[in-house]
Amino acid sequence: MECFGPLEVGYEYDTITRQQIQAGPSSMWRYEALLPVAPGAHARAGLHPGLTRLVRADNLAAALGARTVWVKDDSGNPTHSFKDRVVAVALENARRLGYQTIACASTGNLANAVAAAAARAGLASVVFVPSNLEAGKIVTTAVYGGTLVAIEGTYDDVNRLCTEVAACRDWGFVNVNLRPYYAEGSKTMGYEIAEQLGWRLPDAVIAPVASGSLLTKVDKAFREFTSLGLVDPHPTAVYGAQATGCSPVSRAFREGQDFVTPVKPDTIAKSLAIGNPADGPFALDVVRRTEGAIEDVSDAEVVEGIRLLARTEGIFAETAGGVVVATYRKLLREGLIDPRAEVVLLNTGDGLKTLDAVQPSCGPTLTVTPSFDAFQAAFAGIAADGASA
Ligand SMILES: *Cc1c(COP(=O)(O)O)cnc(C)c1O
Repeated sequence: MECFGPLEVGYEYDTITRQQIQAGPSSMWRYEALLPVAPGAHARAGLHPGLTRLVRADNLAAALGARTVWVKDDSGNPTHSFKDRVVAVALENARRLGYQTIACASTGNLANAVAAAAARAGLASVVFVPSNLEAGKIVTTAVYGGTLVAIEGTYDDVNRLCTEVAACRDWGFVNVNLRPYYAEGSKTMGYEIAEQLGWRLPDAVIAPVASGSLLTKVDKAFREFTSLGLVDPHPTAVYGAQATGCSPVSRAFREGQDFVTPVKPDTIAKSLAIGNPADGPFALDVVRRTEGAIEDVSDAEVVEGIRLLARTEGIFAETAGGVVVATYRKLLREGLIDPRAEVVLLNTGDGLKTLDAVQPSCGPTLTVTPSFDAFQAAFAGIAADGASA
């Protein structure tokens, strides 16, 4: 372990079979034996995240000239992002350790997840966010009734402040003093991909990178399933996706560095806007070991990525999902990923929370008076422009 670096949870795995997992709950708690929780977590849990859909994206694949693409759609979680998974594991441990107040430093989605889970568990919550967050993430946190503290600074300022607060208050910060538990929750996204593919691993996975934790834990999940004999060994290349306006890990990858130089974030992908990512070096290790890559895309490309996924598959991703789709397109264009590779794209959040990103480019096709003739005339106008009748 390194000072100030993330702590890893170690365990002795019992043997576990596919049948035991399949007989478990229809949520991430089916993998309870592989998580740092006491037996029976499912019964104690308030929210039941996970087992979100894995969607075969043939239309997207055709649009991109690729062969087999899947979208792991974590917008289907209780508060509409993958953060419900990490909070579930952290909260179970917070309760065991006797914390009465649950807290976090958040780029938005974690605030939603902590506030909701605390409400359901009957615990107090104090969540800290940058004050410039999307309205859709402020409202969807405040509604749960905990304390929401908006900090006039970046996420990295928020995180630093929370480390100080955690040192003097008896609060369970899910991503500070409970972080090792929190991080393990992300593994369940990887377990589900393998199980939903029919107990096998894909050729590649593309993960959005904020702190870098999710990316490293999906890789860990695949390695665990392999060593437990739940899947046959198969190399999965792990790719990382960032927005150019906050791309310190992508830059380190490109420059061949094994450390990450912090940046000041400036991007519409606010859920990924961590300028000083705690797990950045570990994400670099995973990507290099598995022969993946990390790329970054402009905010305009993020919006195109959101709209491409929506238009081809009927899935409305948040900005982080747009980053992943756009990064996949860029990797294909640059020849950094084989179009024949079976790829799983992680959609970690819901577009309804980041409407601001697409609002300027998505409005009514036509606005007409309530008259048949007016509609006919206006529709003929767009039909002539190539829209199908
Ligand atoms: C937090 C978050 C991520 C990335 O998480 P890390 O584990 O910190 O890299 C990705 N997508 C969304 C939508 C998030 O909220």
